Amino acid sequence: MARVFENVLVFDGTGSSPFPGEVRIEGNRIAAVAKGSHKISQEGAEVIDGQGATLMPGLCEPHAHITYPDMLKLRELGDTPPEEHVFVTMHNARKMLDAGFTSLYSAASSKPRTEVVVRNEINAGRIPGPRFRAASPEIVSTGGLGDERQLHMYHQGIELIADGADEVRRTVRMCIREGVDQIKINISGDNFVRLGQDGACTYTEEEVKAAADEANERGVWLSCHSRADKSVRMALKFGFRVLYHCEHSTDATLDLIEAAKDRIFLAPAIGANYRLAHHAQEWGITHDVADRMGVFKTIEQTAQTYNKLRKRGVRVLPGGDYGFIWNPIGTNARDFEYFVNLFGYTPAETLSAATMLGGQIMGMPDLGLIKEGFLADLLLVDGDPTADIKILQDQDNLLMIMKDGAYYKAPRPRRKAGKGSARTREMADA
Ligand SMILES: [Zn+2]
Repeated sequence: MARVFENVLVFDGTGSSPFPGEVRIEGNRIAAVAKGSHKISQEGAEVIDGQGATLMPGLCEPHAHITYPDMLKLRELGDTPPEEHVFVTMHNARKMLDAGFTSLYSAASSKPRTEVVVRNEINAGRIPGPRFRAASPEIVSTGGLGDERQLHMYHQGIELIADGADEVRRTVRMCIREGVDQIKINISGDNFVRLGQDGACTYTEEEVKAAADEANERGVWLSCHSRADKSVRMALKFGFRVLYHCEHSTDATLDLIEAAKDRIFLAPAIGANYRLAHHAQEWGITHDVADRMGVFKTIEQTAQTYNKLRKRGVRVLPGGDYGFIWNPIGTNARDFEYFVNLFGYTPAETLSAATMLGGQIMGMPDLGLIKEGFLADLLLVDGDPTADIKILQDQDNLLMIMKDGAYYKAPRPRRKAGKGSARTREMADA
């Protein structure tokens, strides 16, 4: 099946300005890209008149938690039985695709096999969902981020608790046996669960090394929760590929991050904190409560750190930790606005991070750009998101969603253009 999108504004994902042009798709790949009109062959193709809408690569969420049921407390993850949890995850996969996210790199599953089975069903074409790299649960120490237990009562959240190098090693081996694509380990604590713990490590070097040795030996990727400066250094030392948060990094640590920039990815996951600080009053998180939780301080520190990282050319991706009631699954595009407003990115730089760097974090060198030979994961957007990045927050602005060359959402008319619509020539002729 060949398709040509004509009369579109092409945002190719590199970060350069969008240009009026046309794009030909053959099968699941981009066959040709041209500036202007009628430069590429329309032979044997369905022709879609984009009516000036923007054609861009599909979005990537680099810190996905699609096992999260838009919850108030982490404990709700443990309260959800495995059977129901598979459905929660399956529905969330579809919600992400509805929101234009054609790739998900997970930052932890709530149960060892939940994401693995959903990934397998998506890959087999039996349920809709984005391309999906499935993760282990968060591997944490006693008292670390995710340990929901009380001394008198057992609770389960998103964690697998492992203390000591041997237990960490065994837990990593088990997750790999069950089929995860990446291991997630919480090297530092977090104010969200225990105030003042975001600057402290909850694992020793010996434990982190044990996890890293096992994953590296088996070719499985490593991601970590690392707010504390020391945790970032450990992650760099032991070959972690994806580092989350990192806002306590000193300038000396930022030098180390910059030196490793060709092999690592960072994601601050600012949206969860931003929404908690400003949009969670309804759930009892008043300004005072948020302040006591240290949320405003975290946001300020994250803004400082990521303004520096942007200037150092480190691969930083927007998104992360959506799936709480104040930042539900599917609203992830809000993070783009925070990158612009808090970190000094331009909209085009932000969208390049969400698309081009998205392909890179997924480990797919032919994903994330509108370029000849690349995989056809594409969005047709009503308007120009490089002029107004907020338009991606409204799913009605997504006129078409394509994954792997197939329509998930077939082209529909532009809403405001007035004259004509995004429609196929066949449809017009019919
Ligand atoms: Zn997370």
